[in-house]
Amino acid sequence: MITVSEILNKQELSKEDIIYLLSITSKEEHDALIKKAYSVKESYLGKNDYLRGLIELSNQCKKNCLYCGIRAENSKVSRYSISDEEVLQVTEFALKNKFTGIVLQSGEQSNAHFTKRITELIIKIKKITYPEFRITLSLGEQSFETYKEWFDAGAQRYLLRIESSGEELYNKIHPDNELHDYKTRLQCLENIQKVGYQTGTGVMIGLPFQTIENLADDLLFLKKMNIDMAGMGPYIEHTDTPLYKHKDLLLPILERFNLSLRMIAILRIMMPDINIVSTTALQSIVPMGRERGLKAGANVLMPNLTPGKYRSSYLLYENKACIDEEADECLDCLANRVKMIGEEIAYSEDGDSKHFTLRNRISLEFNEKRLS
Ligand code: SAH
Ligand code: SF4
Repeated sequence: MITVSEILNKQELSKEDIIYLLSITSKEEHDALIKKAYSVKESYLGKNDYLRGLIELSNQCKKNCLYCGIRAENSKVSRYSISDEEVLQVTEFALKNKFTGIVLQSGEQSNAHFTKRITELIIKIKKITYPEFRITLSLGEQSFETYKEWFDAGAQRYLLRIESSGEELYNKIHPDNELHDYKTRLQCLENIQKVGYQTGTGVMIGLPFQTIENLADDLLFLKKMNIDMAGMGPYIEHTDTPLYKHKDLLLPILERFNLSLRMIAILRIMMPDINIVSTTALQSIVPMGRERGLKAGANVLMPNLTPGKYRSSYLLYENKACIDEEADECLDCLANRVKMIGEEIAYSEDGDSKHFTLRNRISLEFNEKRLS
């Protein structure tokens, strides 16, 4: 029978290999996988991690994803939208704290007013930052034209999780209507790539009905899509959501955590030069969760810079980490934690995905050759 170390020495992982690695139950084998992924990270990216400041712009959302605490039909949520002035104050704080980029995330809103507001906000952020901030957007499904407008205004990266790459499972965790259509999600992701963004996607791990084979397919999907960035984290149930009634089907929370680490580790081995986020959801399960994510191959941290008074209203899931802190407290503790695991925050770098830079260089060279 094949062993974990034989699989880890292969050039390319097959679906069977991935399933084998995801199904590991012994601590020694789990640790060997994590160690291998970390050595891949070290040799491609060094011991450096990138920081981006997360601003949760608004919890207003028109959608009803069955897993999410801020879904439109959850009437217990008090809805907010952060003003431009507050966003710019946070940006200045991020600049002072040596950040080079910011992530604007929000519940999904699509209308002309929202599109214009984001365009203007991007321009304002660029104006007050030097060197100009890298701006990542995580604002859900939008039209091709909107993605293009925001890109032209100066945003460089977009995160849109596919949530589950399998259509059947996708349909089980979303309402059955046009607003939650798998094919639209996929088309949006392709449009984001076409516009020219550094493109990030990912899945939730440990969902009800999800199998190990689903997760192996998810990893193969990320590779096939040739993505530049990944954000994957454990699914954490929220009482006020329809998916909560299936909580008895869930893996114990620590198993979901370890499975998430293995997903990160395998993806790092499969795609050595992409950016992988160590998510807040990991931190919400285990106090050193985000650092464990970095040790499993992730290289990006997105500390929450949302003003404290809004944080408890942006609960995608329960027991979210750091909701009772202000941004400066978070940063102090984060820098120390990263040092504790022998890593450094790469303050001076723009934090672009190396995969994206290389991909662009290759296509530029190809075009130059064709024209000469
Ligand atoms: N509205 C945007 C961005 C905000 S939601 C969008 O949907 O893309 C950001 C991510 O939070 C989602 O992609 C989803 O993967 C994650 N999320 C939502 N509910 C969650 C839960 N209960 N557990 C873990 N992650 C969750
Ligand atoms: Fe809205 Fe995003 Fe939550 Fe879906 S996951 S309900 S789109 S905030």
